[in-house]
Amino acid sequence: MASLQDLKEELGSVTASMSSIQKKVDDLLERQERLQSRKEQIETEIKRRENVYEFSSSDGISAKSWDATDFAWSSTLTDTLREKFGIVELRAMQLEAMNATLSKRDVILIMPTGGGKSLCYQAPALLGNMTLVVSPLISLIEDQLISLKNLGICAAKLTSTSTKLEKCYKAGNLSRIAIDEVHCASQWGNDFRPDYKILGILKTQFPNTPILGLTATSTEKVTLDTKKILNIPFSMLFKSKLNRENLFYSVKTKPHSFDGAIEDMSGIVKSLFSKQSGIVYCFSCKNCEEVSTALNKQGIRSASYHAKMEDLQRHRVHKSWLENEIEVICATVAFGMGINKSDVRFVIHFALSKSIENYYQESGRAGRDGRPAMCLLYYGFADIFKQSTMVMTEHTGLHNLRKMLEYCQNSTRCRRSVLFSHFGNEWTQELCNRSCDVCRDSDAGNAVSVSRYCTELVSILQKSTKSNERLTGAKLLEAAAGRGKLKTSDAEMKALPSESAQRVIVFMLLKDYLKEDFHFTPYSTISYLLPGPRASLLSKSDAKVHLPETSMEISSNSLRLSFAEFCETVSEANGKARASGVKRSLSACPSSSDAKKIKGRHSADNSDSIDLTRECQNESSPIVVEDSDDDFV
Ligand code: ADP
Repeated sequence: MASLQDLKEELGSVTASMSSIQKKVDDLLERQERLQSRKEQIETEIKRRENVYEFSSSDGISAKSWDATDFAWSSTLTDTLREKFGIVELRAMQLEAMNATLSKRDVILIMPTGGGKSLCYQAPALLGNMTLVVSPLISLIEDQLISLKNLGICAAKLTSTSTKLEKCYKAGNLSRIAIDEVHCASQWGNDFRPDYKILGILKTQFPNTPILGLTATSTEKVTLDTKKILNIPFSMLFKSKLNRENLFYSVKTKPHSFDGAIEDMSGIVKSLFSKQSGIVYCFSCKNCEEVSTALNKQGIRSASYHAKMEDLQRHRVHKSWLENEIEVICATVAFGMGINKSDVRFVIHFALSKSIENYYQESGRAGRDGRPAMCLLYYGFADIFKQSTMVMTEHTGLHNLRKMLEYCQNSTRCRRSVLFSHFGNEWTQELCNRSCDVCRDSDAGNAVSVSRYCTELVSILQKSTKSNERLTGAKLLEAAAGRGKLKTSDAEMKALPSESAQRVIVFMLLKDYLKEDFHFTPYSTISYLLPGPRASLLSKSDAKVHLPETSMEISSNSLRLSFAEFCETVSEANGKARASGVKRSLSACPSSSDAKKIKGRHSADNSDSIDLTRECQNESSPIVVEDSDDDFV
């Protein structure tokens, strides 16, 4: 019989072997995840290449043909851009998209917010007959009408479509159909709109009219799906780089108390953006009101904007923000599509976005004028569960939220690289050039072994199941801090700062060591936590998490400093770019007042409904903007 000593030795060696196997299992699982994601990328790429020619700025010869300036319409286009829009320099992919749509090709154009998508149908519209624009929001349609009328371009809103459009098409006057926010057609996108799904009928009804779909956020999967839905399998895809060099991305832990969070946010706004325009995205209508009231108390002029307000009241708030009478608009995420204020200096998420696509689009409303702007997200523990209970019924809601959590939880990888790899864009470190908190500050904290804490948290949850108590994230955090019925007795766990304990819990959710368990009451959905499918693997693994070390005050100061340095870098770069002249100059530059003079010369058409067949004969080539539904604010 083996001696006690032998048994102890054997136990040691078995434990060591198990631990080594566990490490291999973890490595393999991670490798499997990476391979799976690569497999999906390759499959999408193959499908895309089989169906479409893609041109990107870096595509050399193929791109050249579409950015040529010797098409039949090239000189008229150049004149139109200069005379009607005061534009002498085109941005990436604008010329390519315009040439392709003018060549009657179906096109999907993916360009970041503020990149100048509208011009790609507005300018071609003036070269032919009528362009129909489909927009998902009434506010977007109104914006379009106002800006086009200001430019002296004939435009009208179309509400009852079919007969007029049929006549127009038969008369050969429907030049193109532009579909704004085209990603809304796909269920895989972040803003699926059932009405957009039926837009596929356009290609059947008007087969000779090219479609131009425009979006700022579309993953490869969404683009493929959108093409299928719109019946444009051979459409061209133009994708300009997503990188907006003038945006500084940052994530900050949200202080636990509302007052603490407001104090931190107003400190940043007052010190960096005094009297400048910004958007604060909030979780709910009520939250908008609370945040706006609190900011006003702090001396920051702000107002809320959300679905529960009267239209007129919302319109007033929007207008006073546009006219800089108020600085900050506190809004739900429904405020945004079509916001055309170029000097938004900051977009702060006071609540977590529900997906990376949403975040990229919402934060992208900052800095459309190319000047430095900040995109700051307050990462709050309680917000995770508020959001998960909201999105859990959506098709890919929890999956999308998980990606967003990974973005927030990350403290070692460049923020831009996380965003762009999500959209399948190539990434190199120079693209960030130290313009995110991770690259600039790199104070990620230490990677700490947290296995002990994880095991303790799982054991608290096991006890809770046995005693029929359910624990929410907040209650688990309390227990970890040594409070409540199921409090831990582990002194090290108790001593862990709350912010670190929160990070450990989120890490466990992301690694499936914990899972959410949703319960429905007549009034709300509650998220409880349970041990996850991989909890049993935990005991032998060496889990490590970067735990924050800096205090709130230090992190705010370092953010201020980083942003100030970043502003200098961007201003210098802008200065150099201006000094070295324009790259894609179209022709001689008009005087800066030309555009204004032009606006003055053309009279605006104020009528809301028009006879399209008659108007299409006019030289003024109207743009008709069609809504597919009510404003979803
Ligand atoms: P998007 O729809 O891509 O978010 P917009 O079409 O609203 O962006 O354009 C954003 C701003 O950029 C507008 O004020 C527009 O007039 C301006 N803009 C577009 N293209 C150019 C250009 N080539 N040069 C200068 N300004 C441009």
